[in-house]
Amino acid sequence: MSQKRELSLLDEEQRRRLGVAVGLCDRCAHAVLADSGRSLFLRCEQSRNDTRLRRYPVLPVQRCVGYEAR
Ligand code: SF4
Repeated sequence: MSQKRELSLLDEEQRRRLGVAVGLCDRCAHAVLADSGRSLFLRCEQSRNDTRLRRYPVLPVQRCVGYEAR
């Protein structure tokens, strides 16, 4: 398994279910997957502390003031 793969939030199946490119959130320590079984969402936990961030970011995220590498 490559280093790149290990750092990713999503596996290939989750990537397919999400249906859009994730961008920066895929490597961010604050990103969390919310999986209801039928739907899959990416939630930003840092949005609790920083009002500039959306709880559910518009994907793909290209730049972000809250990004922190996993
Ligand atoms: S801080 Fe930015 S990059 Fe990290 S999960 Fe939130 S929106 Fe995505």
